Amino acid sequence: MAKDEGEKSAVAAAPSPDEAEVPEPEEELFEAPERGSADELLDAGAHTDLDAMRHSTAHVMAEAVLDLFPSAQLGIGPAIVDGFYYDFKLDRPLTPADLAAIEERMAASVAADHPFVRRELPPDEGRALFVERNQPFKVEILDDLAAKAKGDGAPMPPVSVYEHGAFLDLCKGPHVARTGQIGPFKLLAISGAYWRGDEKRPALQRIYGTVWPTQEELDAYLWRRAEAKKRDHRRLGVQLDLYSFHDVSPGSAFWHPKGQVIWRTLEGAMRELQARRAYQEISTPILVSEKLWRQSGHWDLYRENMFLIETEGQMFSLKPMNCPESAIVYRTRKRSYRDLPLRFSEYGRLHRNERSGALSGLTRVRQFIQDDAHLYVRPDQLTAEIEALLGEVREAYSWVGFEPRFAFATKPDKAIGDPALWERAEELIHAALLRSGMQFVVKPKDGTFYAPKIDIYIDDALGREWQMATIQVDLVMLPERFDLTYTDDEGKEQRPIAIHRAIYGSLERFIGILVEHFAGAFPLWLAPVQAVVIPIADRHIDAARELAGVLRERGLRVEVDETSNRMQYKIRAAQEQKVPYMVVLGDREIEARTASPRTRAGEQQPAEPWETFADRVAEESRSRVVG
Ligand SMILES: [Zn+2]
Ligand SMILES: [Zn+2]
Repeated sequence: MAKDEGEKSAVAAAPSPDEAEVPEPEEELFEAPERGSADELLDAGAHTDLDAMRHSTAHVMAEAVLDLFPSAQLGIGPAIVDGFYYDFKLDRPLTPADLAAIEERMAASVAADHPFVRRELPPDEGRALFVERNQPFKVEILDDLAAKAKGDGAPMPPVSVYEHGAFLDLCKGPHVARTGQIGPFKLLAISGAYWRGDEKRPALQRIYGTVWPTQEELDAYLWRRAEAKKRDHRRLGVQLDLYSFHDVSPGSAFWHPKGQVIWRTLEGAMRELQARRAYQEISTPILVSEKLWRQSGHWDLYRENMFLIETEGQMFSLKPMNCPESAIVYRTRKRSYRDLPLRFSEYGRLHRNERSGALSGLTRVRQFIQDDAHLYVRPDQLTAEIEALLGEVREAYSWVGFEPRFAFATKPDKAIGDPALWERAEELIHAALLRSGMQFVVKPKDGTFYAPKIDIYIDDALGREWQMATIQVDLVMLPERFDLTYTDDEGKEQRPIAIHRAIYGSLERFIGILVEHFAGAFPLWLAPVQAVVIPIADRHIDAARELAGVLRERGLRVEVDETSNRMQYKIRAAQEQKVPYMVVLGDREIEARTASPRTRAGEQQPAEPWETFADRVAEESRSRVVG
């Protein structure tokens, strides 16, 4: 996604962190799906009382814009997540000064406490009203509705409008009762939008705003928004030299040494957990024949997301998931009931063909690696296995301070396999969730095409919800389509159940979320550099290297700042890189062989012998303390 100089940057020296360009259009912080059909255009997005207030604020904003720009033509103005927008066709581009003027007029309209009044007009009268007011976009919506009604052989319904003060809009509502009920608001951004999301139609200007019931909530939201911008992993990760993005491979990060340390450390922690639970790691090919995807069902239901490669007259794909190949490994031996559960983990490199326009940082990528695993279990083992998996999730998330929340996602409309098997899998998951005593919500029809699942969510430091891990109970895709069997204690062939599970999910996405959650200040155990030793003068460099050696012996990641910069500058540089510990060495410390560590939060800790300091930090790192 980074808009670097394309080909040039591939051969030129890597851009320094300051130069690495990370564009950040304002509107990316908003979730506002494009609306095309007349029905979508008429949807005010007002599903709750808060939404109704937000949409009402959009009307008040449109009133203010018409006041200031009498020839303005109005698009639509729905409520969206955390706010609202309205689209306008104007004679000139809006400026930040315009937003201030619009806000002022809005405040006056709120103070006037106008009632919102709904009226229904006969279709002809309604259309004439918007023609007279020179609002061609509204007329177009009405004409579309009339055409649709005609096509359906139904009468055109009356035209519903909402009025407050002198302002009138084509609208189905709902609204608050009076403008005085609108809470504290703020206009946030101006961006471009096309009428009906169609670039061949007129270009409009979109104004985004937010409104909340109380000033405290508005202030909290504005803080979260500013903080989210500051922490944006696309910028912060580049500043911290963790990774970069380049046009030569859209949607795939280039991992730098420091980012790779975080990656390997997360992987290492997961491998350690998996070893305790008797997982066995496998590794399977990335380039796979279409034959496999036909067998798994991906060819029919997932092909548009796959990168296809033809060679020697045969069609191959880069694997979008590891599942079917895990089944191939399962089938290489005859399995008995005594072999189960079998837990195959795999850090497979996956590719999914996302539209280039949808790619963004580490969260919307084309290439990623999951901490994937496929568990093959007997039906009588399933409940205990799911409970153990929920425990794995809780443990792994405790390493970074996340509290998991659980959702049960059931059979989607687009599903493969016998409905009876689906029903059974859903019953088994449900029973396991109930037995675990964990709170969960149900998300109907949100399962994958081959399995119902448990999705796991967390809230990050800014209160944003992320979907992370998933545990899928598959009685269909792997067991049936790959004809997996084991022999039971009577020598009969039985079907195992396959559990697909990932705990971090995509490592790329997980790290992107962590960068923002910690604002780059990773807990000690994950920090790419855990300590910086800072010699005050050149004559202290040898001792600094010696102390670094003492720390490295204990497996710690250490740098010595041997630059000729002044001490204060070196401390500031380490703080900007969010290094957990800094140790300044001068004559006194070297003579006593002591360290007076300074934390990145600025806390000066008491002097202690080098070995004591090294042992303490090594222990802190091993125990994965967060904070
Ligand atoms: Zn409305
Ligand atoms: Zn799988």
